[in-house]
Amino acid sequence: MKMDIMAGARLGIDLAAIADNYRVIKCLVAPAITGAVVKADAYGLGAARVVKLLQAEGCQHFFVAHLSEAMGLVDLVGPSGAIFILNGLQPGAETACVAIGAVPVLNSMYQIEQWNNLGIARGERLKAALQVDSGMARLGLPPAEVAQLLAHAHRLSHVELCLVMSHLACSDDPGAISNEQQFSVFKAISAHFPNIPRSLDNSGGCFLDRGHFDLVRPGIAIYGAAPRTGQNPMKPVVSLDARIIQVRAVPEGGSVGYGLAHLCTRASKIATIGVGYADGWPRYLSGKGAVYIAGVRAPIAGRVSMDSITVDVTDVPDRHLHPGALVELLGSNQTIDDVAHDAGTIAYEILTQLGARYHRDYRGIGATEPCGA
Ligand SMILES: *Cc1c(COP(=O)(O)O)cnc(C)c1O
Repeated sequence: MKMDIMAGARLGIDLAAIADNYRVIKCLVAPAITGAVVKADAYGLGAARVVKLLQAEGCQHFFVAHLSEAMGLVDLVGPSGAIFILNGLQPGAETACVAIGAVPVLNSMYQIEQWNNLGIARGERLKAALQVDSGMARLGLPPAEVAQLLAHAHRLSHVELCLVMSHLACSDDPGAISNEQQFSVFKAISAHFPNIPRSLDNSGGCFLDRGHFDLVRPGIAIYGAAPRTGQNPMKPVVSLDARIIQVRAVPEGGSVGYGLAHLCTRASKIATIGVGYADGWPRYLSGKGAVYIAGVRAPIAGRVSMDSITVDVTDVPDRHLHPGALVELLGSNQTIDDVAHDAGTIAYEILTQLGARYHRDYRGIGATEPCGA
C-alpha cells in the first residue's frame, strides 16, 4: 500500500531545494560564513535531516532556541560543529548544557553571571556567545550594560567568548532606516570585542546590500520562503497535497459546515478534503483562501474544521473530483507566502505549524552547482 493514502495529506519537502537555497546565501555573503537556524525542528521540516544535509554543504554552525532542541542534535553535529542556543539557558540548566557541549547565547547580565559562576566552580572557561541589543529590545545587553560589562571584565573571567551577535528588527524591509542604524550600533559595540567573530544577519539581513560581518544566521530563506516582503528569489521547498474524501451537490440557498457559515448562492459542488486546523491549516482561512485542483482555484467554503476543509469545486471539471484525487494546498499555484498573506500572518507561522499528521515525502537530495558556476 502507498504510505501516503493512510494520511489526509502529503507534505513534500525538497531537500535539493534546501541545499540550493543554502548555497545561494553562502555565495551571496562570502567571505562571511553561513550558519543555519534549525530551531523549531528546522521550521517544521525536520531538524535532523536538515542538519545532515547542510553539513554536506559545509555548514558547521547551527542555531536552535532551546537547550532541549540542542539535546536532539548534538550527536549529529559532532565535535567539529557548534550548536548555539539563541534563548540562552533557563536558571538551573547550565550544567546540562556544559555536559553536551552546546554554546549558550548569553542575553542578559543574569545569564552571564550564571554561566561565569559555573565556569568558576568548574575551574575552566566555558564557551559562550554574547548577544547585544542593537535596537530591537528583545534579547541581549543594551549598549549601557555592555559598557558596564566592559568596565567589569572579571564578569567574563571564566567565559570564552566565541561569537558576538545581535538581531535585526526589520530585515524583511530593505528600506527600513533601522537596518542601517542597527548595523552601525552593532559595528561600534562589537569593536570592543576584538578578534571575536561577529554575527548580525538573519535571512533578510543576508540580502541587504552591505557587509555581513563574519557569520550569518539564515533560517526562513533556506526553507524557501521570502527573505524580504514581496520578493522571493529562493527555490520553493514545501508542497502540500490533500486527497478528496467526498464530493456533494448543494442546492442554491444551501449552507455548508460549522455555523452553516457558507451560503451557496448558486447550485454548487462542495468537496471535503482531509486537512484542518489540527494540521496547521489556519482556522482564520475559514471563508478565505483557496486550494487548486488541476490548476483551477477552488475557494474554501465555510469554516476550517479540525480535520477537514470544504471547498467550492463548482468550476472544476468532474473528472478531477473523484475520491482520492489530489488537491494542491501548497505548490506551483499557491506558495507559502500566498497562504500566509491570505491568513494575515507570515510564512514562518505557516511553516512552523505544519502538521505532524501529514505523510512526509522527502525528495531530491544532492546535485547542485558550486559557487560561481
Ligand atoms: C530565528 C532567528 C534567526 C533566523 O531568522 P530568519 O528570519 O528565519 O532567517 C536568526 N537569528 C535569531 C536571533 C533568530 O531568533
